[in-house]
Amino acid sequence: MTREKPVLIEGGTVVAFDGKQHRIIDKGYVAFAGDEIVSVGRTFSGEAETVIDATGKLVIPGLINLHSHAGVDVGSRAIVDAGRRDLWRSGFLNFEGRMGPDAVSFGRKANSRAGLRYGLASILQNGTTTAIELGGADGGDERDMVRFAGECGIRLYYGPTFYSGYYHYDERGGFYLKPDDAHADRGFEEALRFIDEFHGANDDLFRTMIIPSSFLRTSRNLFERIKSAAGDRGIGITLHIAESIWEFHNVVNRFGVTPIQLVHDWGLLGPEVVLGHTVYVGGHSQISWPYKGDLEAIAESGASVAHAPVTFARRGMALESFQRYRDYGINIGIGTDTYPLDILEEMRMVSIIGKTTDKNFESAHAREVFDAATLGGAKALRRDDLGRLAPGAKADIVLVDMNNMRMAPYSDPIRALIYCANGEQVEKVFVAGRLVVDEGRTLAWSAEELLADAWKSARDVLASFPEYDRDGRTIDEVYPPCYASWED
Ligand SMILES: [Zn+2]
Repeated sequence: MTREKPVLIEGGTVVAFDGKQHRIIDKGYVAFAGDEIVSVGRTFSGEAETVIDATGKLVIPGLINLHSHAGVDVGSRAIVDAGRRDLWRSGFLNFEGRMGPDAVSFGRKANSRAGLRYGLASILQNGTTTAIELGGADGGDERDMVRFAGECGIRLYYGPTFYSGYYHYDERGGFYLKPDDAHADRGFEEALRFIDEFHGANDDLFRTMIIPSSFLRTSRNLFERIKSAAGDRGIGITLHIAESIWEFHNVVNRFGVTPIQLVHDWGLLGPEVVLGHTVYVGGHSQISWPYKGDLEAIAESGASVAHAPVTFARRGMALESFQRYRDYGINIGIGTDTYPLDILEEMRMVSIIGKTTDKNFESAHAREVFDAATLGGAKALRRDDLGRLAPGAKADIVLVDMNNMRMAPYSDPIRALIYCANGEQVEKVFVAGRLVVDEGRTLAWSAEELLADAWKSARDVLASFPEYDRDGRTIDEVYPPCYASWED
């Protein structure tokens, strides 16, 4: 058998996988041919097609982002430390209202194509090579997701989202959920058609999942059909769950059990399920529900948690805690949620917030955070060829510049990565052997165009806010700017 000569990345500090755990090879190499790693080690013997000098770089497996929203999220950018107190600090509920079939939505003026390209490029150039994307094409053409993922070269898990109910505001601002099972049935059937058509597209970089948008908007009957459709196809399921205090108490009021207990009783949980957020579980200090059972149920089922602390921390909320979930035996991966779509920054916050919530500096160790963003993500996706640099794994490789004043000097490269890095230190990204980011920029598109298009889309959304607001107020009236304008 003749094999093409490999591409060789040499001279860097390589985080290699020995079959059980990551190990550090100082001045090591990674060699790949086609979309696969062929060898990893200290000294390469053989001929290489191309040699990439990684001196001064950390060579890590492509990071896995288990929960991302690629669309330009103008809504959440507006309401970080503002919004309605009666919604218990939940961010999205502030702009999720009026989404019914006959109502005006917050983001209806958004250019979904501009948002998607901007988001996918951000995800990629911050060091993620594999992402689960939830609802980024909302309002746009779902096939854009396949097309744009293919253009920029990201490995993506996606499925059109659907739900069996709408959030609504009434004329006095009252907030409630209006069921609509027929809408969910249609959305579910359309999602399955998309999944059956596009699973394995883009040379198998595009894979699908079943994504009922949120637990609270999915009926028991629909969950049963989702579970069996995922089983028939061998694909995963992901959704938002236990993400707001409002949701937690709504479920306790209606069913007498917690959100996690309810989906456990309904038979949803299992190794193919990625639970988005899962912050409000029994024992969380903000919800007055001291009873145990939620973390045990998740751990026993083999489901994974997609932990995205930044969006929650901005509103004074935190999962309690990374270490506690790990100690219960729960597999945790890391997501970036809405913005910034920077997995390295998210990893830093996983560690810092994980220590703060436990009041223990030994919690959320840098090693465990790195494992979560690599091996944890791979386990959640049931892939043993991702999240590691080892022969036979996919050539998803990230080079991080370590020889700069943000990163150096250091004694341990993983601690330096977790406590100092953000996406700006990412220099090159390979997905399936293709160079998709160089000098920190996504190669497929012009950064200037992405930014100009995103600005235009955001300005259109913000300017149309009075038509969305029930009282016709401007966005500045509802979410006041930090400082008044000079002219006022
Ligand atoms: Zn989300």
